Amino acid sequence: MIADRIEGKWIDLFAEVFAKCKVAPGDICAVLSESQSRALNVQLAELALARLGARPFHVIVPTPRQSAPVPIRSTGASVALQNMGPAVGALAASVFVADCTVEGLMHAAELPQILKLMEDEHVDKLYVSHLNYGGRGNRNRRSDVVHQTTRRLMDLLFETCWADAQAGRRREFVTGNNDADGVYLLQWAQRHLPERVETLREQLLRWGGNSSGVNIANIDNLGNVHPDTFWWNYSLGNVKERPFSEIWTDTRDPLMAGLKASPRPLKGRCRVCGYRDICGGNTRVRAFQLTGDPWWEDPACYLDDEELCIRPEDYAADRPEPAGLAVRTIRHAG
Ligand code: SF4
Repeated sequence: MIADRIEGKWIDLFAEVFAKCKVAPGDICAVLSESQSRALNVQLAELALARLGARPFHVIVPTPRQSAPVPIRSTGASVALQNMGPAVGALAASVFVADCTVEGLMHAAELPQILKLMEDEHVDKLYVSHLNYGGRGNRNRRSDVVHQTTRRLMDLLFETCWADAQAGRRREFVTGNNDADGVYLLQWAQRHLPERVETLREQLLRWGGNSSGVNIANIDNLGNVHPDTFWWNYSLGNVKERPFSEIWTDTRDPLMAGLKASPRPLKGRCRVCGYRDICGGNTRVRAFQLTGDPWWEDPACYLDDEELCIRPEDYAADRPEPAGLAVRTIRHAG
């Protein structure tokens, strides 16, 4: 059993992350939590901020009653703040917010206020990372509650970027971990900037979508090589045993063979998708975690069949086939 006892090394790690966020001595920092937040995280955030010489204060809100018939998790869209002006104001007035809400604020309804804060404080870069999602229906993705949240977020980001471009502002908005964003952007441009669509399509084709195992690599602290940071439990080899150049080009590994193949051996919706040359089949680790098959359709794709020019009968016969990858076997030199 894991006991909730604070370990000094955990405070070190929290402090390390906060220091990377440029928290400085004397900074007034908010620790945001809700009644269902894990108390350990809240305490660690406060202790780490204090260790850096910052001056933490707490904003604690009640976790609202569940509104959906079943719990919806991993949305990244916390409803804890409930648009409570004074609470949002306290967060906005602080130099730094340690977000300890259960779901996290990045996709929350308060995102417009976060974007406003970005403007007020002259922040010139925003990175939004998509979370993993073990999806339900494929055909109705457009109306699925989680995908709807993602779509609203993306619409807001596109509109904010376009307003910036028109006003001559040069801020950077980056999204990560969902390559279907490129397809969604292209479709947004088709509606709003039809004269630019072909140029955008060419740029997206050059980008080519997901490039885990091709242009992205991860080498962990033990020297194990992974196709990207999310494949932490699958090692392609260890740089203390073989040169990286050998490991990276060795397609005897079944995962590496598929990631390096062009096109990738995708299944389900991703196999028949009319946009796979732009998206590249998205993030394979989500499909693997959900089904055991790294080539199955990405459950976090938030575009529906009609938008992707596909029909359910095109992929109805496809089934995920667990690949039996040797996960959690972290090879490292002794
Ligand atoms: S179906 Fe697959 S390839 Fe097509 S956009 Fe969605 S994730 Fe990308």
